[in-house]
Amino acid sequence: MNMNFKRKLPIPMETKEMYPVTAAVADTVERRTAELKSIFAGQSDKLVLIIGPCSADNEDSVIDYITRLVPVQEQVKDKLFIVPRIYTNKPRTNGEGYKGLVHQPDPTGAPDLFKGIIAMRELHMRAVRETGFICADEMLYPENHKYLDDLLGYVAVGARSVEDQQHRLTASALDCPVGMKNPTSGDLTVMMNGILAAQHAHDFIYRGWEGHSGGNEYAHAILRGYINRQGVTHPNYHYETLLYLAELYARWGLRNPGVVIDCNHANSGKNPFEQPRILKDVMLSCRYNPDVRRLVKGFMVESYIEDGNQPVDGGVYGKSITDACLGWEKSERLIYELAELAGG
Ligand code: PEP
Ligand code: MN
Repeated sequence: MNMNFKRKLPIPMETKEMYPVTAAVADTVERRTAELKSIFAGQSDKLVLIIGPCSADNEDSVIDYITRLVPVQEQVKDKLFIVPRIYTNKPRTNGEGYKGLVHQPDPTGAPDLFKGIIAMRELHMRAVRETGFICADEMLYPENHKYLDDLLGYVAVGARSVEDQQHRLTASALDCPVGMKNPTSGDLTVMMNGILAAQHAHDFIYRGWEGHSGGNEYAHAILRGYINRQGVTHPNYHYETLLYLAELYARWGLRNPGVVIDCNHANSGKNPFEQPRILKDVMLSCRYNPDVRRLVKGFMVESYIEDGNQPVDGGVYGKSITDACLGWEKSERLIYELAELAGG
């Protein structure tokens, strides 16, 4: 192989021995994951709000951000279930750019995967311990999931990964709800095949083991918009698409039909300030048709302390170095507005 094997990394079990979860953290994860599952199973009609920065680039500002969500969650707890985004692994369209905390714990420094796996575990652990939330991450590298499997409350399979067999098979082995995004091309069949695969049991090789997964009945859709063959961005959160998705679910005979609307990415054309409008548009569709309301389990919003984004070395505290985000004040307002809409 044309690869310099630089050093052997600790396996997940060794990392967990070094950074074990406390009984209190384990209890939070169990309790909140059970509630989240009840929403995806349709036993609770609360809406899930997966909200936070595009990338978790800095421990202090991410914990600061999530800490701000705590009193807000308390205010809206009868209507909304908040899952902060702590995205430590970033997919890159052409391989260039910041690949996330796991690659570069210091975004302006050299890659350090050893420090990275520890930084990602510590950040997720700190968030659960200090805020009582369970958080979401993208499963970009399926073999890395076990570094975090005792901490995560929600996992997304990204638009560039959803057609990949190892992602689908690993999704079938997860204990928490997993959202399968539509691919960047927008083909909903690819996403449905991903959900189908994730909902069923499989035998496959995982981290050097022959494993048998149990199937994940909480695997569901995430609509994130798409880019057509001419490179033009198209949304897919509108009423017609939601009805069509409900029809697909019925035709495919999948369990727990559900969708999370990703309000940024190709749905907003990466304009984060469109996110409140998109969310409200979907809530209108929900109000119009109870079938759509049953299908829509919640939203994903890219949000951080500051509006917008900056270059990797921009240096502004709490401002995204990947996709542009909605800043804190606007985000806080949006959460209260969503809670109002969910109540009406
Ligand atoms: C993201 O959620 O930041 C992301 C990379 O999403 P997608 O896979 O939809 O591009
Ligand atoms: Mn993003």
